[in-house]
Amino acid sequence: MDADNAHRDIRIAVIGAGFGGLCAAMKLDERGYRNLTVYDRAPDVGGTWQANTYPGAACDAPSHLYSYSFDQDVDWSYRFAHGPEIQRYLGRCADRAGLRHRIRTDTEVTRADWDGGEWALTLGDGSVERADVLIPALGHLCVPVYPPLPGRADFAGDVFHTARWNHDVDLRGKSVAVIGTGSSAIQTIPAIADTVGKLTVFQRTAPYVMYKLDAPYTERTHRFYRRFGFARKFARGAIWGYFEFFNYAFWRFPGAMALLRRVHGRQLRKRVSDPALRAALTPDYAIGCKRILLSSDYYATLNRPDVDLVTEPITAITPKGVATATGTHEVDVIVFATGFETSEFLSSIEIGGRDGKTLREQWSERAAAYLGLAVPNFPNMFLIWGPNTNLGAGSIVSMIETQAEHIVRAVERIAESPGTTVEVTTEAYDAFLGEIRAREPKTIWAGCDNWYRDEHGNDIHNWPGSMRDYRNRTRRALTPHYRVTAPTATESHSASGSDVG
Ligand code: NAP
Repeated sequence: MDADNAHRDIRIAVIGAGFGGLCAAMKLDERGYRNLTVYDRAPDVGGTWQANTYPGAACDAPSHLYSYSFDQDVDWSYRFAHGPEIQRYLGRCADRAGLRHRIRTDTEVTRADWDGGEWALTLGDGSVERADVLIPALGHLCVPVYPPLPGRADFAGDVFHTARWNHDVDLRGKSVAVIGTGSSAIQTIPAIADTVGKLTVFQRTAPYVMYKLDAPYTERTHRFYRRFGFARKFARGAIWGYFEFFNYAFWRFPGAMALLRRVHGRQLRKRVSDPALRAALTPDYAIGCKRILLSSDYYATLNRPDVDLVTEPITAITPKGVATATGTHEVDVIVFATGFETSEFLSSIEIGGRDGKTLREQWSERAAAYLGLAVPNFPNMFLIWGPNTNLGAGSIVSMIETQAEHIVRAVERIAESPGTTVEVTTEAYDAFLGEIRAREPKTIWAGCDNWYRDEHGNDIHNWPGSMRDYRNRTRRALTPHYRVTAPTATESHSASGSDVG
């Protein structure tokens, strides 16, 4: 089909204005699809970077890689950009692409239903809008979770989650408890240690924290990169290759991770001299099984006399503080750095497919999608950062770009004639899921408790392979994995069927 004659006026609804939703919108806009709306319940673009404003929020992948390959013209302040700068970058990308007027912030989509050949989106105010293509781009980490500890509502002081930081609470001189020692905690703990009067960190499992080789970029480096664009590309490529090595190691050569574990042990010995504290900070599971964290000041902060590490399990929150078996740690403020609801995908929105079956029902045993992108019975719906497309190492932006390109190809088919549907076949879905299931037990993530698993023990989040492998697979022809149905004739394409891919 001649792309210029395609029916580019089809209505496209993207849910989420973070890295994923904006990427899909920009790629579709570039191909001429202008009847496109991006919905986000937040007041601004940015997704996770809009929501996570806790002190110290920063990226743990280098910014050259944690940015769109097609928008590299940016002078990052640091090797690992801080949250507000990433948020500004995304806003700037939306402006440069001329997308702002198609982004509806403060607009929540509460449900979406496949209704007579189109998607009906119900918004928070009860109104209904219609679209030919639905692209949920909500991410894995958008609903903050509090552990089920009794007494939280009775706490007399201030309490909030890192993902909903309460900037009205003045922490100066206060006694503060931080619960959790994951990615968010290890960034915020050093960032608030100088401000608070006393800090108590509650650790359930010791994380592997590797030294973060961060540094500000100088004006000279900026000038160099501006002048020699290829150097920026080279830097990006080198970082990509570095992380790609770990993506192979995670599932093919877990033995290679032993070396990294030794490096961590050496770093811990160098930075924490107190043997008891060091023992408490030593992880007891295979490195890489939970996310490897990066920080240059976390261990140093725990050495401070005004910072305590508590490893006793928390039994309850009391009006005065955090209780363990041996007593209550009295504090003025409790910060929950306890992560997100990850056992259910797209939990904040109900999606009804063909014959009224909801995605929740379809996923009752486990969340899955063909290449993390498409689900049978949900025609013309494509997920960004869907099940099993998270990375253990590297930049999720690479995966997102690959997915957006795949979606553009599917949309080109849908646009060929009004009413066309593109739907993944059950065979392709089942075969893909079978492959994921077969690889899963061999990965490094199978060996411990982590947020990648659902309540049945399935790893529904991580891609058990390399970024390159994923990219190659998403670039294959759409058929025979998808069924393309035109309104007048049904085509079940064979491998030799026509395909823009
Ligand atoms: P997380 O990694 O899930 O960490 C939650 C922490 O809370 C863990 O240490 C967990 O301990 C602890 N916890 C949960 N319940 C507890 C309880 N009852 N008592 C004591 N501790 C408890 O959450 P997160 O730090 O928000 O990070 C989630 C993901 O977001 C990361 O893995 C990463 O992908 C992403 N993230 C990325 C960045 C970045 O720099 N790009 C920054 C922040 C977050 P256990 O380990 O024992 O479960």
